[in-house]
Amino acid sequence: MRFTQLVTKTMRDDPPEAETASHRLLLRAGFIYQVAAGIYASLPLAWRTLRKIEAIIREEMDAAGGQELMMPALQPLELWQQTGRAAAFGDNLFSLEDRRGRPMALAPTHEEVVTSIVRANVQSYRDLPQILYQIQTKFRDEPRPRAGLVRVREFTMKDAYSFNGDEESLEQSYRAMAQAYHNIYRRCGLPVLMAEADSGAIGGKDSHEFILATDTGEDTVITCSGCSYTANAEKAEALLPEGTVEVEVCLEEVSTPGIKTIADLAEYLDIPAEKTLKAVFYMADDEIVFVTIRGDLEVNEVKLKNALHVNELRMAGDEEVEAAGLVAGSASGIGIAGIQRVADFSISKGSNFVVGANKPNAHLRGANYPRDFEVDLLTDIALVQPGQPCPRCGRGLEAIRGVEVGHIFKLGTFFSEALGATFLDRDGRQQPVIMGCYGIGVGRLMAAAIEQNHDERGIVFPVPIAPYQVHLVGLNLGQEEVAQAAEALYIELWDMGIECLYDDRTDQSAGVKLNDADLMGLPVRVIVSPRNVQQGAVEVKGRLEGDAVMVPLNEVPGDIQERLDSYHGS
Ligand SMILES: [Zn+2]
Repeated sequence: MRFTQLVTKTMRDDPPEAETASHRLLLRAGFIYQVAAGIYASLPLAWRTLRKIEAIIREEMDAAGGQELMMPALQPLELWQQTGRAAAFGDNLFSLEDRRGRPMALAPTHEEVVTSIVRANVQSYRDLPQILYQIQTKFRDEPRPRAGLVRVREFTMKDAYSFNGDEESLEQSYRAMAQAYHNIYRRCGLPVLMAEADSGAIGGKDSHEFILATDTGEDTVITCSGCSYTANAEKAEALLPEGTVEVEVCLEEVSTPGIKTIADLAEYLDIPAEKTLKAVFYMADDEIVFVTIRGDLEVNEVKLKNALHVNELRMAGDEEVEAAGLVAGSASGIGIAGIQRVADFSISKGSNFVVGANKPNAHLRGANYPRDFEVDLLTDIALVQPGQPCPRCGRGLEAIRGVEVGHIFKLGTFFSEALGATFLDRDGRQQPVIMGCYGIGVGRLMAAAIEQNHDERGIVFPVPIAPYQVHLVGLNLGQEEVAQAAEALYIELWDMGIECLYDDRTDQSAGVKLNDADLMGLPVRVIVSPRNVQQGAVEVKGRLEGDAVMVPLNEVPGDIQERLDSYHGS
């Protein structure tokens, strides 16, 4: 590809609307074009990278026994109503009417359609197992599209679905997909963490996310350096150190004028936060819930939502707290009745806590569970903090930020039961098909790769997904012998199967060309200049290397091939 033929132009300055590195760099390097909020065109450079990612995905999905198909994005809304997911997706589901007034949807995922296909085609256990996948466009009406390609309204996804006759077979498909995912990320040059994930309200069992570590990622993974335990923040568990066990003392009221937060309370009474209990109020499907957790911990709302088996959970407002006869900032379980009370296990780790007195400006010392108050549900609803002991081996846990680039999920029979996808088992009994689903956002993977691989000058593409492998820069191309040398090298590299972008511009300075090379981040840069050509050599440099080396012209192709092979291996 010649630079002068590229449709896209690079930008010198950061676009003001871009808040993350990948968004900024993809716009500046001319990879994407924003059509509307959360809607982007993939321009030729991005498209090359996306097609490379897709090719790797296809090979690994096929190797794992997947069969590719293509399902429509446009679907009757009725199908979504049959599973209740039209309501579950709510405003995130793009819906429209056709010319006859029939309600339609633009699909954000394809469980409904793929289950209908299996319903029509699978009759017996002999027809199972099946793994079907597609690489296709999805739609999601995000309330706040952001971060360029990370959170968008139209996106390309590889979605796969497994159909199995029993749990053991599902486990096999699930493991095959997990392995295929590991292979895909490794081949893209992207190290990922596989984290246990929350399986949500649908009632599936196992679920794992694949997270690419980045400084600015919106997800947090909790991981242990002592064993393999890795889970996302919503799912992660930790051991709680036993609090100091003291002789239980009597309850005693203390005056705490104007004190409403745990931090203020701990400072005012000169005690550590873990010697207090925190009260938090939630509205769970329109019912107020009283939650107690040790003062040094935070509530994990996903765990709480799952423990309560509700669809919606949010913090209660001050008016809702007051209406329930409770005092925000000074509440505790002592003397509270007629309201659902949930507590975290941590309230039983320690004794003689300071808690709210259920009246303004006062707290109680010496509160002990279960001596002084009851709860309806005592369970794990705590957000894990870095440094807490690992639930498997006891070593301190670490928190890592990252971007989710894949998700695998044992769905169970939710969709097959809702849509009647059944088969006859070996004993001639009608059974619902057991399902798993497996997704990778293709554009998001490219964006996450750039989040993880860039520096202050631009993108640093991993070799396997770089749009081109070599950035050939010609300087002073007005000089005939320089232009000839660059042209000859360009043709030779392509003849060897090395993809080369040739900056053949004659109207740009060396500085602009070298900045553009750094910005676009191709793995190897080659400079052909009058000085080099006089010496019968060119300058070759890896994107992250400080200094270029002079390589004799006849050795250039071999040198580049060697470099690309070594980057592949690293
Ligand atoms: Zn561990």
